[in-house]
Amino acid sequence: MTAILEFTQFPADALMHTAVRPETVFVNGQGSWLWDSTGRRYLDFVQGWAVNALGHAPWVITDALARQSTRLLQAGPGFFNDQAIGLAAELRRLSGLERLFFASSGAEANEGAIKLARKWGQLFRGGASTVLSFDNSFHGRTLATMAASGKPGFDRIFPPAIPGFAKLPYNDLAAVEAAIGPDTVAVMLELVQGEAGVIEAEHSFAQGLRRLCDAHGLLLIVDEVQTGVGRCGEFFAHTAYGVKPDIVTLGKGLGGGVPIGALLAREAVSCFAPGDQGGTYNGNPLVCAVARAIVQHVAAPSFLAAVQARGAQLKAGLQALSARHKLGAVRGQGLLLALDVPGDLAPGLVEALRDRADAQRPGLLVNPARPGTLRLMPALNVGAGEVDLALAMLDEAMAAALTR
Ligand code: PMP
Repeated sequence: MTAILEFTQFPADALMHTAVRPETVFVNGQGSWLWDSTGRRYLDFVQGWAVNALGHAPWVITDALARQSTRLLQAGPGFFNDQAIGLAAELRRLSGLERLFFASSGAEANEGAIKLARKWGQLFRGGASTVLSFDNSFHGRTLATMAASGKPGFDRIFPPAIPGFAKLPYNDLAAVEAAIGPDTVAVMLELVQGEAGVIEAEHSFAQGLRRLCDAHGLLLIVDEVQTGVGRCGEFFAHTAYGVKPDIVTLGKGLGGGVPIGALLAREAVSCFAPGDQGGTYNGNPLVCAVARAIVQHVAAPSFLAAVQARGAQLKAGLQALSARHKLGAVRGQGLLLALDVPGDLAPGLVEALRDRADAQRPGLLVNPARPGTLRLMPALNVGAGEVDLALAMLDEAMAAALTR
């Protein structure tokens, strides 16, 4: 039994103030449920920011961690290890992309993608280095991935910004065609812009980008850090678009809660030479063993069919909610979904849903992706009953917020 501890008993001010956080301290998790230090419980539709593909503390991960932690934790980037080799082979089989590099986060995977594109540009495109990316996109928080991101304000926080990126309107193929020049080396995008509020690429846009890249000899980089590993209902979101990228990045769900990112590339694009790219933890066997177990579990057709079924259930429920309360659009694929709410109600709703938790009633955790948008990203193995419960809590909170 965990002791009941109020927030005042945690000296949290030793942590840098890098996020506005509620006075809730989480101490336990199981499946779709989280418990805080006072014993209140929450149905978790944030799941570590779309990270915990199999929910909290799943046996798939605890088994893999326990097994691997007694065998080999870290061999170092200067040696092969069996887990990195096995994971790379599995991701190669699933993606058709022949070469992999493992990192420790999504940003680091994307940083690697940008470096690979620049190296390829030096070798094969006359030194071209500009990456075209999109308004409101999110690719990470390293200096280069911030420069690649179209998140408003990101270009002004830590000047000087890294050069070599041009930001274009999303879903506007003509704008991309007009922007392509001799210095262009790649186009980089999310097929569903998660942080922007779950904005989907149109199929014609994604396929048009592939055609433009082929016609102009450019690389197509698809950031699947949030959309990949089953989140959108297929193992990779790009499969549903019928688009074959030259480079794909993964993160988040790949580790299901342990930190790992991956850079996947076609053989012809994999031009790093020894010394170009690395990192102490690349291919760390502990996290690779976990990712192997997750990939095996998630890639099973029956698992992905269940993700699609739960996604359809949640989407239909959100659409019904939207119709009943006269809300806005419902967007997204699989279990990466968003609901637009009137005005700037989202942060208040998120708070009310969380703070309804007491000794008897659970709370619900959802994310205010924008002031007028709720984002839902439950565990991929969320139950049908849990989806219904989340919808009922949303319904109640919406009714209360709209009559206020
Ligand atoms: N790309 C996308 C599409 C993301 O959503 C994120 C994280 N929200 C990142 C990259 C960065 O990943 P990380 O936080 O693991 O560095």
